[in-house]
Parts: sequence; C-alpha cells; structure tokens
Amino acid sequence: MEILHISNELKARILLEKQAGRSIGFVPTMGALHKGHLSLVKKAKKACDVVVVSIYVNPTQFNVKEDLDKYPRTLKEDAKKLTGFADLIFNPKTNEEVYGDSMELKEYDFDGLDQPLEGSFRPGHFKGMANVVSKLFSIVQPDKAFFGLKDYQQFLLVKKMVEIDNHPVDVIGCSIIRESHGLAMSSRNERLTPKGREAAGIIFYALNFVRKFYSNYSVEELQTRALFLIDGILDVEYLEFRNADTLEEITELKKGVHVFLSFAGYIDEVRLIDNIRFEVE
Ligand code: AMP
Repeated sequence: MEILHISNELKARILLEKQAGRSIGFVPTMGALHKGHLSLVKKAKKACDVVVVSIYVNPTQFNVKEDLDKYPRTLKEDAKKLTGFADLIFNPKTNEEVYGDSMELKEYDFDGLDQPLEGSFRPGHFKGMANVVSKLFSIVQPDKAFFGLKDYQQFLLVKKMVEIDNHPVDVIGCSIIRESHGLAMSSRNERLTPKGREAAGIIFYALNFVRKFYSNYSVEELQTRALFLIDGILDVEYLEFRNADTLEEITELKKGVHVFLSFAGYIDEVRLIDNIRFEVE
C-alpha cells in the first residue's frame, strides 16, 4: 500500500494501472476510519482490482468552522487499518491538490433533493460535498465508487452530481455498519461519553419500532411514538418520513412506497444521524 500526497503522482500511478487493464475502485473518506469505512473498502476490493481510498477533511463542506478544526486527523492509524485492504491512499498535501487554484464552488441543480433534512440544517454542506467528490472523481477516474447508506441523502446527491458532470463511474451504496447495540458507526462516536454511547442505541431501537409496527399506526402516531422513545435521551433535530426516491414528505404509508425514515439529533453535544429504509407491504 502506498500513500500519495500529490494529485499528479496519483494520476500517473492510476494511469499505469488502467493501462494494465486493472479496474479502479474508490472510497472517499475524511479519515478517522472505523469498521463502517472498512466495509466500503472491503466491498471495493471484491469488485475492483485496485482500491484507492482518499483521506481528506474537505473544508468546503463544513458550515461550522469549529467542526472543521475539531475533526480528528489520524492518518497513521488510518493507514494501519487500511493495510491489506487498500492499494493506494490519497491524502492531499494541500487544498490546491484537490481544487487547483480556485476554491470557488460550482452550483448544482439537484432538483430539490438537497433542500430537506441535512440540507436544511447544514446550509452549504451538500454544495461543498458535491464539489469535492466531483474533483476527486476527476483525479481518481474510478470505475466504481463506494458510499455508505448511512448518509443516504448524500448518496442520492452523488448519483445526481455524476449525471450532471458526466463522470463515467458506477456509484454503489453500502449498508450501514452498526455497533452491537445498534448505534450506527461514526467517527463522531469517539466524542461520546461511555454513557452517551450506550444510550444512543435508542435511535436504532426507535427506527426499528417504526419498521416493525408501521401497519398498526398512522404516520403521525408512528412519529409521536418514535419521538417518545428518543426524547429525553437525545435532543432531536428531525425525525422525518420521506419517499426514498424523491425525498418528498410522506403522510400516508401506501403499499409499495419506499420509505426513508431519517433522524438527526444531539447527545453529549455530538450530532448523530441515522436512517432506515423499507418498502411498505
Ligand atoms: P466520512 O469519512 O464520514 O465522510 O464517511 C466516508 C464514507 O463512509 C461515506 O460514504 C459514509 O457514508 C461511509 N460511512 C460512514 N459511517 C458508516 C457506517 N456506519 N456504515 C457504512 N458506511 C459508513
């Protein structure tokens, strides 16, 4: 496994692989890697000959400067975790290696998919995310790119950006990896107290309650009951029923609808997100 810091060096290295007929799998990350990230890397390794993992804390997707400063940077440990799974790590030395001379961002028209949920609570986040992923795709030129469904809205927007920018890449969604008590793995979990980490398991419990009992209640009742489970343990930012394809709000669970139940909230001053998706039977 090699760690490269210069985009031209990475491009040259990837060109050699492509000329030898090898396919390229790509996993973009911001580092502080855990088993969720590693599951993406393993999936990439199964599907592609060469796996590139980027580790880059992208400043343009943070709407709060303090979060950017606080984001853990653990390249040494990350590289250890990736040994045996990834082939190349791209850890840009400077922002210019990714953005070139200008960090001015492109405006995307996402047909409204960027407006609700994370879009409304983290202004500018998706614009920065789409820009950096597009820049990284131009550098890495992957055949397949792997994204976690934990960030489901992000996954939809990456697919849309790929259409708009005409990147010849397959975008593949990967299941959410959870701790044994159900909490979705996240780099942010490290900032929770042991008590908070344990208690945050209630998020998945409440989401599952909805999946299990949706046929007994209306959407409004389901939301009230799920919130009742979570309130007092986390400060809920949103818990919303959305159509998983259009992200439109769902008020009724009609047969065949693909539901995206999306959560965001705070515990120990740490913001956590999670979701489940299911089809109404
Ligand atoms: P991040 O470093 O947080 O930007 O995440 C990099 C990639 O890992 C994104 O595609 C995330 O959706 C994915 N990811 C993060 N946590 C998980 C998880 N618990 N399960 C599956 N994928 C995840």
